[in-house]
Amino acid sequence: MPGALLTIDLGAVAANWRALDAKSANTVETGAVIKANAYGLGVGPVGRALQKAGAKTFFVALAAEGVVLRQAIGPTARIFVFSGYMQGDESAFDEFDLTPLLNSADQVVRYLTHRHGAEYGLQLDSGMNRLGMESPELVSVIEHFPAIDPVLTMSHLACADEPEHPQNLDQLTAFNEMAATLTSQQSSLSATGGILLGADYHMDITRPGIGLYGGEPFMDARPVVTLSLPVIQTRPVAVGESVGYGATWVAPRPSTIATVAGGYADGLIRAMGSNASLYAGDTRCPIVGRVSMDLITVDVTDLAQVPASLDILNTTQTVDVLADAAGTIGYEILTSLGNRYQRVYKD
Ligand SMILES: *Cc1c(COP(=O)(O)O)cnc(C)c1O
Repeated sequence: MPGALLTIDLGAVAANWRALDAKSANTVETGAVIKANAYGLGVGPVGRALQKAGAKTFFVALAAEGVVLRQAIGPTARIFVFSGYMQGDESAFDEFDLTPLLNSADQVVRYLTHRHGAEYGLQLDSGMNRLGMESPELVSVIEHFPAIDPVLTMSHLACADEPEHPQNLDQLTAFNEMAATLTSQQSSLSATGGILLGADYHMDITRPGIGLYGGEPFMDARPVVTLSLPVIQTRPVAVGESVGYGATWVAPRPSTIATVAGGYADGLIRAMGSNASLYAGDTRCPIVGRVSMDLITVDVTDLAQVPASLDILNTTQTVDVLADAAGTIGYEILTSLGNRYQRVYKD
């Protein structure tokens, strides 16, 4: 029996990478962030597609993700690890040629002691207070290691999706001041949002993630995912009958209800409830009643014919639209996409 089908358009991923690359000068390198299994879409196929499009530098959150990526894309690309040099990961860095973005004086000391001569980057905190060294810590690191020689110095913006937010400029200034106190082969400040803030934010290499996968704030992104859920059965429901847990929806007219295979166990967040719809081609069919673990009930009364499957992600109801319905962000919809879906990749 054909199950739920998640179609991932690798041509769109590559086109989004090229479009983001075109937003910065030719001298600026465009990297690719493919942490969390490429935002849920599959680190192997996505990594290879981006490499083919021209990406030479990749970023992951954890060393374990870097190992999987290295096996998928081979030896030539650079792979940076945001969490830096974590205890227990030492052999992964050696065996799979990963480069840590060192976050603290403690990580710097352990790395320079254990892995003398190997490349590393430094992560600075310019105001987000999440990862990286603040100015006093950086000063003391430079004092202890005057020959410190990172291949990359980076920081991350907290508010880049809000172009008018004053913290963007504050962080840019703080980063430039800190970066000026050491020499580094490359510097990097911007994820997708920062790329859209303009040239001051581009530095030597950018780090887009969500924009590659079709999400805001890159409004010109090509949608990447389509998700079709098979209809298991349909039933007529009389006026006054209810549908689903809690009997929250009561039929106001004689209705036809389709039950599709997909639910919150597949990352179709329960909170989206009846704010979201499924689609038969271009025709919107509202969700009725509660989203359950494996099933969603849909009002298909207005369809002349009920198709074998209905779409919950398409070019109309994108990850951001579905996220709005659930009170969350596109990132969470993507990274929650379930592992019961059959994933199909198209070029
Ligand atoms: C996730 C992440 C990115 C990518 O951010 P997007 O908003 O998805 O483009 C870049 N840099 C760091 C440090 C990150 O954690």
